[in-house]
Amino acid sequence: MTVMDFITRHLTDDEWMDGAACKGMTHLFFPTPAERPQTRERREDAAREICESCNVRLVCRDFARDNHEYGLWGGESEDERHTAGYRLIAPIGVRARQSG
Ligand code: SF4
Repeated sequence: MTVMDFITRHLTDDEWMDGAACKGMTHLFFPTPAERPQTRERREDAAREICESCNVRLVCRDFARDNHEYGLWGGESEDERHTAGYRLIAPIGVRARQSG
């Protein structure tokens, strides 16, 4: 059993969040209304840097994939999850960003 298997099997959805490196930084992980593309890129780059050193990154990424979350989770944006086959229920903005 890998460490990630152990974590996944022994922590509830809420417990893994105790190890989140992004506590108090919600503004980096979710867009504001009408966010400009350049602003989004800078915000998501800053968020990804935090995710890279986070101890629960893979659990976080999988949680977002399984629950069709919006925002940046586990170093992965909603667009990246959508493209990877983890479809958003209502993909706001994804098609517009990908067709541009
Ligand atoms: S991987 Fe990123 S989004 Fe997930 S808990 Fe860690 S810092 Fe937060």
